[in-house]
Amino acid sequence: MRFDLPDAPPQAEELRQQLRAFLAEAGRDWTPEIRARSWMGFDREFSRAVGARGWIGMTWPQVYGGHEKSGLERIVVLEEMLAQGAPVGAHWIGDRQSGPLILRLGTEEQRRRILPGIARGELAFCIGLSEPEAGSDLANLRTKCERIPNGWKLNGRKIWTTFAHKSDYMIALVRTSPAPEGGSRHAGLSQFLVDLRLSGISIRPIRDLAGEDSFNEVTFDDVILREDDLLGEEGAGWAQATSELAFERSGPDRYLSSYPALAAGIDALNAAPAPGAEVTIGRMVARLNTLRGMSLSVGGMLERGESPAVEAALVKDAGNVFEQALPEQIRNLVDPADSPEELRRMLAGLAQLAPTFSLRGGTREILRGIIARDMGLR
Ligand SMILES: Cc1cc2nc3c(=O)[nH]c(=O)nc-3n(C[C@H](O)[C@H](O)[C@H](O)COP(=O)(O)OP(=O)(O)OC[C@H]3O[C@@H](n4cnc5c(N)ncnc54)[C@H](O)[C@@H]3O)c2cc1C
Repeated sequence: MRFDLPDAPPQAEELRQQLRAFLAEAGRDWTPEIRARSWMGFDREFSRAVGARGWIGMTWPQVYGGHEKSGLERIVVLEEMLAQGAPVGAHWIGDRQSGPLILRLGTEEQRRRILPGIARGELAFCIGLSEPEAGSDLANLRTKCERIPNGWKLNGRKIWTTFAHKSDYMIALVRTSPAPEGGSRHAGLSQFLVDLRLSGISIRPIRDLAGEDSFNEVTFDDVILREDDLLGEEGAGWAQATSELAFERSGPDRYLSSYPALAAGIDALNAAPAPGAEVTIGRMVARLNTLRGMSLSVGGMLERGESPAVEAALVKDAGNVFEQALPEQIRNLVDPADSPEELRRMLAGLAQLAPTFSLRGGTREILRGIIARDMGLR
C-alpha cells in the first residue's frame, strides 16, 4: 500500500479564495445545526448556485456539462464546502459517485441525458445498495429485475436510502439472474438507473436518531424500466458497485464531517484559552493533515484510473475515527458554561450524527476486514 502525495496545481489557491468569498456570502444565514449536518444538508437552490459556478462535475468532459479541471482542484472545492458545513447533499452523491460511474460505464445517450443535469446542480442521486437482509452482506440482496419485451421489470425493496425522497434518480444494484448453484453470489447482479418518478415506486422516509427524515425505505412494485436503463454490463454489477465504493470512501467527506466544530472550537479557545489546549489541538491538526495527504493520494490514484479499494477503506476508517472523536475532544477543551452558543449548538448536533459516520458507506468492522485481508491477516 502506498500513499504518494500529488502536488496541487498553481490555480488551486486562487480557486480556494473564490470559494471562501462565495461561501461567506452564501452561508450568512446557516445556523450551527445546518453546519453540523454538513453533507447531510440538502438544499437544491444552493446546489444550483454551486453548479452555476462550475463547481460540480468539475473533472468531466465539457461535452457532458463538465469543466475539465483536475481532480485536485475538485478536492479544493470539496474541502471548502465541508469546512463551512455547506448543505451540499442535493449534488454530493451525483458529483462524487453516480456521475463518475455514468461517465465511465454509461452509454453515450445516458451520459448526454444525465450528466449535464448533475453538473448544473439540478439532478439529485441516491444510492440503492442496502436492503433489509443485505447490509454488510450486500451480495445477499433480493431486489430483482427480469427481462420483459423492450425492457425490464423491477421488484423488491431498498432500505436506508439517503435522500431517496428528495432525489431524481437512484443507481440500484439488483439481481438479474440467479447466482449459479455452488458458484459466486457476486454473479448475476446488475446496476440500473432508476427514475424515481416511475409508477410502482413508493418511498417511505425513516426518522433517524436526530429526528430527521434523511433516509428511506424504497419499494419497487412491478416498475417498468427501459432497455437502456441498464447501467454498464448485465451481470457485472458487483464489480461496478464495488469500484464505485472507492469514490464513496476516500474523499474529504470521510474525515471532515465535524470540521466546523474544530474551527469554532479554536475560535472559542482563542477568546478564552484553556491550559494545555494547544497540545490537543496540535495533535488533531497533525492527524487531519495526515488524513488529508492520504485522501489526496487516493484521489490521484482514482484520477489515473486505478481502483484503490483498500486504500479507500483505510482513509474511511481512519477518517471516521477522527471525525467521530472530534466533537468530544472539543467539548473536553472548551468549558461548556463559557462556550459560545453557536459552538454548543453545533456540538449538540454532531453528538447525534457522529455515531452514523462509521456505519454509512460501509461499517468499521467491514472496512477493517477488507484492510486485514489485504495485509494477509485473514
Ligand atoms: C446515515 C446512514 C446513511 C446511509 N445511506 C445509505 C444509502 O444511501 N444507500 C444505501 O444503500 N445504504 C445506506 N446506508 C446503509 C449502510 O450502508 C448500512 O447500514 C451498512 O452497510 C450496514 O448494514 P446493516 O445496517 O444492514 O447492518 P449489518 O450488516 O446487519 O451489521 C450490523 C453490525 O454487525 C457488524 N457486522 C456485520 N457483518 C460483519 C462481519 N462479517 N464481520 C464483523 N462484523 C460484522 C457490522 O459492522 C455492524 O456493526 C446508510 C446508513 C446510515 C447509518
